[in-house]
Amino acid sequence: MTHVDPVCGMPVAEKKAIQLERGDRRLWFCSEFCKQEFLKHPLAYEVAVPAHGPESVDWPGRRVAYFSMEVALANDIPTYAGGLGVLAGDTLRSCADLAVPVVAVSLVHRRGYFKQEIRDDRQFEHDAPWAPEGRLTAVSPQATVEIEGRSVSVRGWRYDISGSTGYTVPVLLLDTDVSDNPPEDRRITDQLYGGDDRVRLMQEVVLGVGGVRLLQALGCTGLETFHLNEGHAALAPLELLRSVPQADGWEFASVRNRTVFTTHTPVAAGHDRFDSALVSQVLGDFVGRDVLGMLGGADRLNMTHLALNLSHYVNGVALRHREVSSEMFPEYEIHQVTNGIHARTWTSATFMALFDRHIPGWRSDPMMLRNAIALPPADVWDAHERAKDALVEQVTHRTGRRLRRDVLTLGFARRATAYKRATLVLSDLAALRAIAREHPLQFVFAGKAHPKDESGKEGIRSILRAARELGDDVPVVYLAEYDLDLALTLVSGVDVWLNTPLRPQEASGTSGMKAALNGVPSLSVLDGWWREGCVEGATGWAIGAASSDSAVDTSRADALDLYRKLEQIVAPQFYRDRDGWARIMRQAIGVNASFFNTHRMVRQYMAHAYSRGVER
Ligand SMILES: *Cc1c(COP(=O)(O)O)cnc(C)c1O
Repeated sequence: MTHVDPVCGMPVAEKKAIQLERGDRRLWFCSEFCKQEFLKHPLAYEVAVPAHGPESVDWPGRRVAYFSMEVALANDIPTYAGGLGVLAGDTLRSCADLAVPVVAVSLVHRRGYFKQEIRDDRQFEHDAPWAPEGRLTAVSPQATVEIEGRSVSVRGWRYDISGSTGYTVPVLLLDTDVSDNPPEDRRITDQLYGGDDRVRLMQEVVLGVGGVRLLQALGCTGLETFHLNEGHAALAPLELLRSVPQADGWEFASVRNRTVFTTHTPVAAGHDRFDSALVSQVLGDFVGRDVLGMLGGADRLNMTHLALNLSHYVNGVALRHREVSSEMFPEYEIHQVTNGIHARTWTSATFMALFDRHIPGWRSDPMMLRNAIALPPADVWDAHERAKDALVEQVTHRTGRRLRRDVLTLGFARRATAYKRATLVLSDLAALRAIAREHPLQFVFAGKAHPKDESGKEGIRSILRAARELGDDVPVVYLAEYDLDLALTLVSGVDVWLNTPLRPQEASGTSGMKAALNGVPSLSVLDGWWREGCVEGATGWAIGAASSDSAVDTSRADALDLYRKLEQIVAPQFYRDRDGWARIMRQAIGVNASFFNTHRMVRQYMAHAYSRGVER
């Protein structure tokens, strides 16, 4: 038996230790020196000081402030809408594991995003209220921002993300529901992506300006990097710029040297632009028209341009996305840090047990998952079958429909919006039926459409109509309320993860990475992360050409290629070559899960994006 010497901290074997009884405790020392030292200063050595206790967030020690409009903290906290928020949550979970001194800032979203109900062939939306009181720790003091000439109080709630070694990353959720604010201002931080442009701009004032001021009020004096996860928080560096005295000129360079900007989408709707009249109304004379116009655009405030102009390091979220972003913003140098997922969070229970058995250490170092390449294929298949059982159960529980465990099951779940083309695989039902006569198929869909995204909602309607038409020939189910828990059940329980975005609009995509971690290969258009993750026939399969003229609609050609691959390669392999299939599964883990994780990603941000601030 080995103990730890309370004085020097070295391990001591019980047989060789010098023992000491103290009350009802027994202590073991390596040497007489340590025992005497202990008796001289018992209090100094006896009190076990937790390295990182829940109350010990050292605000001055934080080096990086990470700003994100959405962040997925837990399944029952509805402060996220999709991939951006899940990425933010996974990033912070890895920061906590790796003890990176980060503090995160987001909004409290008391009414959540929305709750989705699927009924009568369509989506219905309901409020998703939650209460931070009792769940989170209120921080003091508060901060104040000016909105439309009013002084608006902003308070913060602290959610602690505890890493695998006990290190804590605090997340501040900003809240304007403060009694000294007038009723309308109390609702500013209520709903994620709700409301009109005016509400959105007010939320961005709270996030960027309120965030910086609250961090200052809390005593975060050591911040060297402000990381903007998407352009929503671009007012943060503007607040840094505004708040330093301009007697010796504007501090453009020093603000820029501290700011990092990650852009997340080539889709226009993902880049906020605000009319100048609205900007004047909401911001007033925040920095002066000339400076704001110079940095963010003269006629409209473009939050992406503002972020680009105030950051020293700008990155896209996959190699391909870097190319696309460089074409969009040719004046700027754009780097890339390919996205990842938090490995422990996205591993199903059965694969956790499998990895624990064969790859000890994978939880704290997911790079070790490369050793999955040598997992016994039968064990991999067995773990998958049990994950599939869990999905089949879940589908029955939610829809009353019983899927078959022995049938090739394809999954498709992500935000329901036009460029994701969820309906591509259902674009020719006769072709699909023909394939399924030879090789039975079934599909599981999920995803929410933003309440104002009419084409996204129409996509859900056409899937539901196709499902009815296909009946039992090709069972298709649509599961409501896509969230973190359902995502894990889906990515681990299906046999193939399908992704058919319109090139080049998928910046990265992360659900396919979650699938790979659970041994599920992707069948996907070559866009986003799949350009890096696809090794044809080894980690999954590509649909369509590697690149295409984005002005040409490739939907018909992509659909034909999808049906051809499914019929001639994927389905025959699944039904006739189980060993070969299990090899593909372990290659998906070994090749892709070992790389596409947020531990690797956070280390790259530290090496390439945060280091400049740290050196200064
Ligand atoms: C992972 C995840 C996403 C992002 O999926 P993409 O493939 O990147 O579109 C969205 N929503 C939830 C709930 C997720 O878990």
